[in-house]
Amino acid sequence: MMISFCSTRDPALLASAGEALEVGLASDGGLFIPQSFPTIDVAALPSESFQEMAKMWLHAWLKGTEFEKDISSVVDDALNFSVPIYRLDENTAVLELFHGPTLSFKDYGARTMARLLGQRLARTGGNRIILVATSGDTGSAVADGFAGIDGIQVVLLYPSGGVSEIQERQLIVERPNVQALRVKGSFDDCQQLVKGAFADPALVGIPLSTANSINIGRLLPQMLYYVWAVKHLQNNDIEFYVPSGNLGNMTAGVMTHLAGLSVHGLRAAHNANDFYPAFLLDPSTAFGSTIQTLSNAMDVGAPSNFERLQALLNPAKMRQLIQGEVVSDQDTIASMQRVYEQYGYLADPHTAVGLEASRRFRLKSGEERLHVILSTAHPAKFPEVCERALGIKPVEPAQLAALRDASTNVVDIGAQREHLASVLLGL
Ligand SMILES: *Cc1c(COP(=O)(O)O)cnc(C)c1O
Repeated sequence: MMISFCSTRDPALLASAGEALEVGLASDGGLFIPQSFPTIDVAALPSESFQEMAKMWLHAWLKGTEFEKDISSVVDDALNFSVPIYRLDENTAVLELFHGPTLSFKDYGARTMARLLGQRLARTGGNRIILVATSGDTGSAVADGFAGIDGIQVVLLYPSGGVSEIQERQLIVERPNVQALRVKGSFDDCQQLVKGAFADPALVGIPLSTANSINIGRLLPQMLYYVWAVKHLQNNDIEFYVPSGNLGNMTAGVMTHLAGLSVHGLRAAHNANDFYPAFLLDPSTAFGSTIQTLSNAMDVGAPSNFERLQALLNPAKMRQLIQGEVVSDQDTIASMQRVYEQYGYLADPHTAVGLEASRRFRLKSGEERLHVILSTAHPAKFPEVCERALGIKPVEPAQLAALRDASTNVVDIGAQREHLASVLLGL
């Protein structure tokens, strides 16, 4: 059976995998979710190689679609890095998702989605301009993922003075078909510019698209590491700890489970942006405004994938499968210190939020169940926080060191609509 996708707001509004990937958002403003789920025999998947397992899993999702024949080469090309699992102790393991080129888990979604979209555009002869506003990991993952793919240009906007030195280095390194724009304004200004471009009459006819985690194409590959952990650790009763912001990773975990992966539960570990954990306790909770924290890639007041979670799980099932936890900045620092002292393991601030949630659930339950914490970023992306928590500077991995001598390409623009429009019209 071929899987189609439908809008979260209207189950009758259908799209093929290719259409959903290309347009991003459904025409009624909803997000795409699978209309039905494959039933996958997890025991029959290969467990020797992540890439071979990935191909079989994605095949079950995409067979019969235009992408069926692309899967193998896309996986080999996009997911050509390792997925190590680091055992802290008997019952606690860290699933390291930061070994891709830009050192965060967002490489999985961005690189895979880019290549699938590239294949589709090659078939249709179309082209797309991907616009992204970024304050953190998304921009570099998207820029790296889409760079050099025929038919695609990337324009990324970031706030001048609003990203760290390392993040900026990752954003402005020269890449084929990528233009970085340093905006005189805030992150919100950047987001406004992107939104405005889609509605700008001067830009009608320019094929704009986005690549943030509202795109289902990013979530499909994010299922793979949950499956890998279960296969690799040979344990069907794992509790997964997911450092969460927009809840894309959490949604991917839910989709994995609905397609046949058995897990004990999923735990949404949030920083002070606590909407979702609060909602799980009290469904009348409303979205909050965004609060800045040390785990800044999770600073989201209104998680975009919440709408998907609600469409995928009825309230009883959601509460049975998912629980939430909120971790303050102070406890994030303490978590980094504890894990370093206890295990000699250097966790980045996002991973530390997951580790602290795991510690608390262990304490509350007294159970010896296996906890797997998704490690979403490399600590070297956050040297200031590591220095503050532990007094040490993380060793710079090759992916970052190489950027020091690389040539850069960035254009400064103002935060007015005309500035972005003139860049887009000149591409
Ligand atoms: C994006 C990001 C998150 C949050 O992931 P969501 O899918 O938005 O919940 C967590 N950690 C890091 C390092 C990230 O870059």
